[in-house]
Amino acid sequence: MNIHEYQAKAVLREFGVPVPRGIPAFTVAEAEKAAKELGGPVWVVKAQIHAGGRGKAGGVKVVKSIADVRREAERLLGSTLITHQTGPHGKKVHRLYIEEGSAIDREYYLSALVDRATSRVAFVASTEGGMEIEEVARTRPDKILSFSVDPATGFMAHHARQVACALGFGREVGKQAQDVLPRLYAAFLAKDMSLLEINPLVVTKAGALVCLDAKIGFDDSALYRHPDVAALRDLGEEDAKETEASRHDLNYIALDGTIGCMVNGAGLAMATMDIIKLYGETPANFLDVGGGASKDKVTAAFKIITSDPQVKGILINIFGGIMRCDVIAEGVVAAVKEVGLRVPLVVRLEGTNVARGKEIIIKSGLNVIPADDLDDAAQKIVKAVRNGGGDGP
Ligand code: GDP
Ligand code: MN
Repeated sequence: MNIHEYQAKAVLREFGVPVPRGIPAFTVAEAEKAAKELGGPVWVVKAQIHAGGRGKAGGVKVVKSIADVRREAERLLGSTLITHQTGPHGKKVHRLYIEEGSAIDREYYLSALVDRATSRVAFVASTEGGMEIEEVARTRPDKILSFSVDPATGFMAHHARQVACALGFGREVGKQAQDVLPRLYAAFLAKDMSLLEINPLVVTKAGALVCLDAKIGFDDSALYRHPDVAALRDLGEEDAKETEASRHDLNYIALDGTIGCMVNGAGLAMATMDIIKLYGETPANFLDVGGGASKDKVTAAFKIITSDPQVKGILINIFGGIMRCDVIAEGVVAAVKEVGLRVPLVVRLEGTNVARGKEIIIKSGLNVIPADDLDDAAQKIVKAVRNGGGDGP
């Protein structure tokens, strides 16, 4: 789960990490009031969306009057920001963060994440602040320092010295790093984060080390022990289909292709997506209904797939082991009866109760294209989609 920058900064503030003073605002009037409260003389108006790259897209503005705060708030609230992280449709701005302006001397990059290779929390630091770290890794890998922290010892003074040295901090800023870095590590552990990215970490003209931006991702599996964190969720930022899927305990990820997939088992789902690609189309989603899915769960899954206007065809690929083909068939028939079927549907069933499953589908009178194996199924759905599919309501 991700949260907004202003929420992330509030979390960091709890741990004594230096962040600029700021106040969130949901309306223009609130933005103006926040600016007055902060006092100026420089403010930063920051669009709050779950995506980076806002600065380049006009979503972060440094201004010098309350009138300008008001003008930027009017411009941003309700507008759609398209950054390199939002996808082509962009994200609508519903919240702003009004912050006191910082006089920046230098910008750096710092992040902490769970490193699966070492099973530890790893830190990444770079002098190239404000840039995307993926880009730095590609073009200037020598500019990146990374190390992992032994959980038995925790974050140690030599770790902070390493960062200070790599970033070229002098004595005074180095001392601040000795204080700030262990706090970031403590926050990371205490809140079960999966990612903490400060980009940029800055040294101000007055020589203070400050986190100017903050992005936090939390480990979903640990959310149950952090109700305070769970309360920060902004469903408006999440894909509605993914939210609905998680309500039904479905493993679903929205993608931007044209073929909706309903599959059981993550491996089979991956293979199904691959073979769709092989035949020249792209999957609209990853969906694993799981092993012991009920009819209701299958119905919910089918409805989620058909609610996506990008879906031009559906491929159901079930290898029934624990999952029974008749349950899948019943779920699909129930869903189609409820929401209709406006695109071609190819079904490949194999395994437990396959004969019953096929019979349920035939008897339902649904306009289904049957397939014998995965290869056949993939070719058939791609062909159906290319032919412009859809047999009407
Ligand atoms: P992002 O583009 O979504 O990552 O948003 P950031 O919060 O990182 O802001 C983008 C850039 O705006 C930063 O890299 C800074 O260069 C600039 N910026 C943000 N806050 C301030 C500030 O208080 N003062 C100044 N001078 N620049 C700022
Ligand atoms: Mn940033």
